[in-house]
Amino acid sequence: MSAGRQDRPLPLLAGLIGWPVAQSKSPLIHEFWLKRLGIDGHYVRLPVRPGEVARAFKGMAALGFTGLQATMPHKRACFDLVDHHTPAAKALGAVNTVIVEDDGTLTGENTDLPGFLEPLANLDLSGEQVTVLGAGGAAAAVIAGLVGLGARRIAVVNRSPEGTARLLEDIAATLTGCDIIEAGWSQAEALAAGSRLIANATSLGMAGMPPLPLEVGSLRDDAIVYDIITHPHQTPLLRAAAARGLRTHDGLEMLVGQAREAFRRFYGAEPPKDGDAELRVLLTA
Ligand code: NDP
Repeated sequence: MSAGRQDRPLPLLAGLIGWPVAQSKSPLIHEFWLKRLGIDGHYVRLPVRPGEVARAFKGMAALGFTGLQATMPHKRACFDLVDHHTPAAKALGAVNTVIVEDDGTLTGENTDLPGFLEPLANLDLSGEQVTVLGAGGAAAAVIAGLVGLGARRIAVVNRSPEGTARLLEDIAATLTGCDIIEAGWSQAEALAAGSRLIANATSLGMAGMPPLPLEVGSLRDDAIVYDIITHPHQTPLLRAAAARGLRTHDGLEMLVGQAREAFRRFYGAEPPKDGDAELRVLLTA
């Protein structure tokens, strides 16, 4: 017996396009919820070469897909190729989820934003300074999320000032009324020390990348350290912050949060929260 989007022929299909895509943990999350809810559906990894997204999109509705998610390097192409954008996707200039509508048109959504926010429910950042490390695609969702929590003084630390300028231009509408500090790494420590929340949205600290050059010793005692990297999920930054007794959140929390939003759209059902602990064990095995 199946539950879910009965307006679509079964099985309900969704997937992730990327290059490479084999490493992704997203299928594990969706398949876990599908099984738990008894939905006749699948979430598959689709290795799509750079430059091939338009051709992949052409077959999507015909193949019976309810939607797709995108990881590197396809997020930009997805933004450009969909027929409509949700307000969040438009505001962020980024699409990570594409929904096939009943009429076959494609809607671009950004689930990174609610995903980032999921572990921060009820946090009020009004009047607080926050520091975001990085200014790539994911940083857009992180910054917009922090604005949504009330932050109005946001320091953006990035290697290339051009990258910061481009990002801030893309999300300018989201930043109305915010005091933005554009900074390089030499200022990171001082800015982080004055911040209630520090989020890493760079690739630094990821497996195979250099470590993030930030000491936690001077952070506030009530600082929250959020590192959105998923591989490894316990980055050196998070380990150091936890050892100092600070509140921390990792990239798997965001990954599950963003998958939850996509799952609702693909399969028309609410992912059960009562399996979160079991899911986390699977994801960290
Ligand atoms: P982008 O490539 O768009 O951005 C990468 C960022 O990292 C840029 O700010 C870039 O700086 C910086 N960076 C890269 N290498 C270096 C370096 N050697 N020294 C200093 N800065 C560097 O990637 P995304 O924004 O898409 O992803 C960023 C991270 O977030 C990745 O680790 C990704 O896995 C993770 N992520 C996690 C998600 C989750 O659900 N948990 C969702 C999406 C992303 P510059 O502008 O100067 O190049």
